[in-house]
Amino acid sequence: MSKTLLIKNARVLVTMDAQRREIADGAVFIRDNVIERVGTTDDLPQAADEVIDAAGHVVVPGLVNTHHHMYQSLTRVIPAAQDGELFNWLTNLYPVWANLTGEMVHVSTLTAMAELILSGCTTSSDHLYIYPNDCRLDDSIEAAHTIGMRFHASRGAMSVGRSKGGLPPDSVVEDEAAILKDTQRLIETYHDASRHAMQRIVVAPCSPFSVSRDLMKEAALLARSHGVSLHTHLAENVNDIAYSREKFDMTPAEYAEDCGWVGQDVWHAHCVQLDDAGIHLFAQTGTGVAHCPCSNMRLASGIAPVRKMVDAGVPVGLGVDGSASNDGAHMLGEVRQAMLLQRVGFGPDAMTARQALELATLGGAKVLNRDDIGSIAPGMAADIVMFKLDGAGFAGALHDPVAALVFCTPANVNHSVINGKVVVKDGVLRTVDLPVVLERHNRLARELALKAA
Ligand SMILES: [Zn+2]
Repeated sequence: MSKTLLIKNARVLVTMDAQRREIADGAVFIRDNVIERVGTTDDLPQAADEVIDAAGHVVVPGLVNTHHHMYQSLTRVIPAAQDGELFNWLTNLYPVWANLTGEMVHVSTLTAMAELILSGCTTSSDHLYIYPNDCRLDDSIEAAHTIGMRFHASRGAMSVGRSKGGLPPDSVVEDEAAILKDTQRLIETYHDASRHAMQRIVVAPCSPFSVSRDLMKEAALLARSHGVSLHTHLAENVNDIAYSREKFDMTPAEYAEDCGWVGQDVWHAHCVQLDDAGIHLFAQTGTGVAHCPCSNMRLASGIAPVRKMVDAGVPVGLGVDGSASNDGAHMLGEVRQAMLLQRVGFGPDAMTARQALELATLGGAKVLNRDDIGSIAPGMAADIVMFKLDGAGFAGALHDPVAALVFCTPANVNHSVINGKVVVKDGVLRTVDLPVVLERHNRLARELALKAA
C-alpha cells in the first residue's frame, strides 16, 4: 500500500528544476519516498494520506551538505584550538581526538545531524578519518538510520604519522592494509547504489599530508572496482601547498591527477588555493569541490575562487565542515556565507542569493554524483524543507522571499520531509528525543575535555 503526502499553499516553491521555476501558491504531491507531481495548489490533488499546509512558507529542495566531521561537535571552541591556522589547529586537536570512543561517534553524529536537519539539510556526507579505541564508521551509519537522514558515510583514514613525515601523531594513524580491508567491508555491508538510496559509502583517505601516495592510489582502485565515490581534503591553505611542493614536487591538483583522484566520482574539500591549471583540470574531468566558507574564514585559509570554478564548469557544492572549525554548523547559514564571502573576494556581483542556494541544492547533488536529489521535480527523492517567514528577522523582506531566505538571519526549518517522511513538524524533530541526545552529548564532550587536560 503506497502512502501519499501533499504539501500545499506554499508562499513560493523553489523547484531548482531545469527551468529554475519558482511557483507562487505551490504544491507538491509525494507518493511514498518519491515526488510525483509539482504545480500550483489548484493544479494538484486536494487530498492525501497526510497534508502539510505550507502557507507563509518558502519551500525549497532539501539542502545537501558535502563536507563535515560530525565527531568534532564534541570539541567545539576548545581553547587551544580557537585561534590557529589549519596545521596548528590540527596539531592541538589530535591528542584530544585520540580519546574518542564508538559511543562518542554515535552520539555526536546524532547531534550534528539534528543541527543540520533543523537548518535545512536533508542529505549529508560525513568524513570520519580517526579511529582510536572502539570507533567504527558503523556507529555513524546507525545514527543516520535512527534520525532519518540521507547519508554518504565517508571512510576516512590517516596512515602517515609524525615519524614518517606526516602531521598527525603516530598514535592516531592506522595500518594501510587494515584501512583498505575495513573500507571494503563497509562498502559490502552498507553501500546502496540504487536510485533514491538513503545510504552510500565513500572512500576517503584524510589528506595528502596524512596518508601515503600508495594509499591514495589503492583507494582509487578500490572505489572504482565497487563504483563508489572518492573524497579527501585538497589545497586548503598555503602550508598545504608548501607541503605538496616539498614532498611531491607537485601542486595539489597535479598530485590528485597523478594518484587517479580526478573524475565525476571524486570531490575534494576546500580547494581554497586551487590554481588556474587545477580549476581547468577539475572542469575538464568533472571533479567536484566542497566549498566551506565559514571554516575557511575561521582558520584564515583564504577565499576559494568559487565564481571562477563555477564559470569554468567545476561542480561546486557547500559544506559546513567539522564543528571544530565551524562551530555553528548551520546549512542555510553556510549558503549566506558563501554568497557574502565571494563578494568580499571578487566584488558585489560575484554571487547572487539564488546562485548560492543552487550550490547548496543542485551543486551538492552533482558533487555527490547524484541526479535524484537537489530539485523538486517528478521522479526526484522527496527531500523538501519549509521555512516560515513570519519572524522579526524577515520583516520587510517579503517582496522577495527567496532572496530573503539567504540575505536575512539564517532561519531553522519549520517542516522537513526526508525520503517522503516528515522528520521535522512545527520546528520539532520527530525521530529522536533531542534534549536527551544533547544531555548525553554534553556529558561525553566534558569527558573528552577532562581526559585531554
Ligand atoms: Zn574537513
